[in-house]
Amino acid sequence: MSAILLDGNAIAARIREGLRARVEALRRAGRPPFLVAVQAGKDPASAIYLRNQRRLCEENGVGYRLDDLPADASLDAVLDHLDALGRDPSVTGVIVQRPLPPQVPARALQAAIPPVKDVEGTNPANLGMVIYGRPTLVTCTALSVMAMIREARVPLRGAEAVVVGHSEIAGKPTALLLLDELATVTVCHIGTRDLALHTRRADILVVAVGKPGLVRADMVKKGALIVDVGINRVGNRTVGDVDEGARDVAGFLTPVPGGVGPVTVTTLLRNTVECARVQAGLPAWQEG
Ligand code: NAP
Repeated sequence: MSAILLDGNAIAARIREGLRARVEALRRAGRPPFLVAVQAGKDPASAIYLRNQRRLCEENGVGYRLDDLPADASLDAVLDHLDALGRDPSVTGVIVQRPLPPQVPARALQAAIPPVKDVEGTNPANLGMVIYGRPTLVTCTALSVMAMIREARVPLRGAEAVVVGHSEIAGKPTALLLLDELATVTVCHIGTRDLALHTRRADILVVAVGKPGLVRADMVKKGALIVDVGINRVGNRTVGDVDEGARDVAGFLTPVPGGVGPVTVTTLLRNTVECARVQAGLPAWQEG
């Protein structure tokens, strides 16, 4: 058996296509989406990411600006900046670029971005809506995992879903979204005693850890859907958390690169447009 590979680039292109009419409608209504990225200090690793962010926005009719704050900016200075962006009606979305300097803890900033402008979905109010089962702005990674799962069209109700990794942006919100679909969800983490015991039961296996080779072929149920979120550099290759051998066992698999990654990037655009829609009083967008 060879798994069907879920093509993240094709899914991302389709999401962008679907966004076009929404962006146009916002422009016609005089409420164009406008994303501001804030960075404190210039991290060389972020430069490519920021360039791609700008290109993605500009190619899709979304305004974009990068606000550069100095590396020694105080927490108060960054909070003041976010406060000004929060009150500026022409700014419809705000993203804070990581890494942040040590004097600026990310958690303090998450609460400072108004929930309606929170394109990363990490304001406590937006994270709370995921627990309520009424998600509006969800973290880009969790949204893209769900987009990959929908693409495979496997039944979720009653399915055994195992999520490996419990981070705020990936594992935890994904587990809650799967729970909303009435999957039976198990979350594994660093304290899990026997990872394989759980992964072998999974009809749907989401792996978001950042450890190459963590999940081997012998840890996968035949025919399972595997969403590999991990991005790891091994020599000059980019690999996920799941061994290539799993392709012979799984039914569906997201490749790395070219799987979850491109969908996550496009989901940032989706959330930017969604924020602008919420601010314009338009109804929330139903995924499908
Ligand atoms: P993170 O915040 O470091 O979280 C990693 C999680 O894995 C933690 O919950 C950790 O648990 C758990 N973990 C560590 N070792 C484990 C083990 N041996 N068995 C089971 N669980 C273990 O990372 P993240 O931000 O969620 O990202 C995870 C990976 O996804 C990284 O490779 C990252 O680059 C990638 N990523 C990809 C995308 C994409 O679009 N494809 C987006 C975001 C992230 P403890 O906290 O208990 O140690």
